[in-house]
Amino acid sequence: MAELKLTESRDLTRIERIGAHSHIRGLGLDSALEPRDISEGMVGQTSARKAAGVILQMIRDGRIAGRAVLIAGQPGTGKTAIAMGMAKSLGLETPFAMISGSEIFSLEMSKTEALMQAFRKAIGVRIKEEAEVIEGEVVELKIDRPAAAGNAAKGSITLKTTDMEGAYDLGAKMIEALWKEKVQSGDVVAIDKASGKVTKLGRSFSRSRDYDAMGPQVKFVQCPDGELQKRKEVVHCVSLHEIDVINSRTQGFLALFTGDTGEIRSEVREQIDSKVAEWREEGKAEIVPGVLFIDEVHMLDIECFSFLNRALENDMAPILVVATNRGITTIRGTNYKSPHGIPIDLLDRLLIITTQPYSKDEIRKILDIRCQEEDVEMAEEAKALLTHIGVETSLRYAIHLITAAALACQKRKGKVVESEDITRVYDLFLDVKRSTQYLMEYQNQYMF
Ligand code: ATP
Repeated sequence: MAELKLTESRDLTRIERIGAHSHIRGLGLDSALEPRDISEGMVGQTSARKAAGVILQMIRDGRIAGRAVLIAGQPGTGKTAIAMGMAKSLGLETPFAMISGSEIFSLEMSKTEALMQAFRKAIGVRIKEEAEVIEGEVVELKIDRPAAAGNAAKGSITLKTTDMEGAYDLGAKMIEALWKEKVQSGDVVAIDKASGKVTKLGRSFSRSRDYDAMGPQVKFVQCPDGELQKRKEVVHCVSLHEIDVINSRTQGFLALFTGDTGEIRSEVREQIDSKVAEWREEGKAEIVPGVLFIDEVHMLDIECFSFLNRALENDMAPILVVATNRGITTIRGTNYKSPHGIPIDLLDRLLIITTQPYSKDEIRKILDIRCQEEDVEMAEEAKALLTHIGVETSLRYAIHLITAAALACQKRKGKVVESEDITRVYDLFLDVKRSTQYLMEYQNQYMF
């Protein structure tokens, strides 16, 4: 590994999409750490959110080292949501990695390797790199939407720039990138000369209006000296795991997409750690500890627990949040029982938060937020029915029905999801209770 590779990972760091928790944007606390009723996608669960807020404060004050958080509560009471809310409150760049206790045993690698990868996914490295950028103020921008994906955006742009030549060289590539970034007239942008990537730097208030609207062409205006600064430093954030994978000779960076990373040799990690330490000393990189969430922590065994104990001592360790819905149970790999199936020495390090089941009103509010998130319009009556289903079965089941009911509605060419759509998908997809009942009735027809 002569030169540590980073550039290939630039655009891989965060792909936002609608997932089970994409509506969670923080913990929804005010400046006094009091939970707001509904805020940042969070509803209810006030004491757990408040406790999580206090822990965040400890993290910010640097007083969490060597400790971790346990969220205990019934399934579907927002344990994952709270852990994610913590990561979001720590800042946009804070990595959040999630792994379930049982997953560790099913991956094609050793248990501790799987845990190690999860840890390194939750450790961000903010790297400052020297890069040639063109900085410019967008004076006028008209872009025709490309007809189909893959077609270049066409249009006209007047850019007041620090680097006329560079801007001409980038031409169409730049227009495409500006369109993708939804840049508007008056925005100040930095355009990476190598990749054409556009970063918005802010809005210009000294906007010059001397330039007339342009025809379908690109026009660049030399910026008077000193009016816009030449920026040569770009910052990007990757996880230690991403650096590991990119530099692992057997893997290659495409493994990041497939998740098929295999085991990473310890020499690779050692080299990366010392390189990152070097960068930190030179002021080129900073560590951004993220949040590692381990669900179903009772599924880990004694070897995994001792790995966790050791990993927590590392100075780059992320905030470890574990969750379980078990009471007193056997610690896997031993004959001993303990609270949540967690060894006492680890339990001793944990700050414990509990979550409570939701009221009908809270379920209704969470479903409302999910409808907005999924862009689903639902009639009041249908929402009431879905809330009732949520109370009788589970919140997660009711959330799943939103997408399915929206599809049923689309199929009958409706615009608003009605009760009939909910009933249809309720009949199509069984919840756990009905599925168990069905199995009990028909179990002799299944294979053993
Ligand atoms: P399990 O024990 O099964 O892992 P969990 O306690 O982690 O469950 P979540 O997965 O967090 O539960 O919650 C189920 C769904 O409800 C998720 O989509 C989550 O984002 C949403 N949700 C849970 N609690 C809240 C809340 N307080 N506010 C908004 N959304 C919530």
